[in-house]
Amino acid sequence: MATAIITGASQGIGACIAKRLAKDGFDIAINHYPSESDKANAENVAKECQEFGVKAICFPADVSKYADCEEMVKAIKAEFGTIDVLVNNAGITKDGLLARMSEESYDAVIAVNQKSVFNMTKHVATVMMRQRSGHIINLASVAGLYGNPGQFNYSASKAAIIGMTKTTAKEFGSRGITCNAVAPGFIKTPMTDKLTDAQRDAMIAQIAMKRYGEVEEIAGVVSFLASSDSSYVTGQVIEISGGLSM
Ligand code: NAD
Repeated sequence: MATAIITGASQGIGACIAKRLAKDGFDIAINHYPSESDKANAENVAKECQEFGVKAICFPADVSKYADCEEMVKAIKAEFGTIDVLVNNAGITKDGLLARMSEESYDAVIAVNQKSVFNMTKHVATVMMRQRSGHIINLASVAGLYGNPGQFNYSASKAAIIGMTKTTAKEFGSRGITCNAVAPGFIKTPMTDKLTDAQRDAMIAQIAMKRYGEVEEIAGVVSFLASSDSSYVTGQVIEISGGLSM
């Protein structure tokens, strides 16, 4: 059985991707932030994955910490035997205009969104290289492609992920490993529930399809990138935004 790791999978897009890949037949390693509430949510996600007849186990780790990721990847390899798919999904926002953005807000977003991709990809790619196969999928954002006022830190981290995706594709392509990114637009999750009505209305006005995206619409594209149907697709950024920009 093939194994998929999804980081930050206790809620939102990550939880939906975990369930979709379980439905696709993957055994699932559910990473979650080491807090009591994330643990409880992740355990529910594991139960829902298990309903598809696959193995699903929770692995608490703060993915911004290098040593914690190294230890977690070792534990997942020991438990499942192979690592076939890595979805770097964990992310946070700490929005504010640059003039008022603190150094702490900048550093926190870069650590969770950007450094985590280094921490996880480095350790997982070592396993995939020995297998000579694997799919790595990174969650970027339209903010990383086009910028967004109030998201200097977030758009920096997501633009970096696009560079990391292309570099990973080039470094590991000859070893049978693909690496792609998805760039969601405005998707209905706890992350976007924080926006004001005025911010939401302004976003929707710019979207060709005049609606928010659903988490299942991200999970569907990730499922394709994790499957053999995408075997000759690598280093790409797939925008999933309902036509936010064309
Ligand atoms: P969310 O806040 O609902 O979920 C994020 C998850 O990451 C949570 O489960 C959280 O606990 C986890 N996480 C945070 N810090 C962590 C850490 N240090 N270690 C481990 N886990 C950690 O957000 P979401 O909307 O589901 O976002 C998922 C991904 O999609 C993020 O990378 C986000 O930037 C990206 N994205 C979301 C949208 C959107 O509209 N929702 C748009 C573009 C990109």
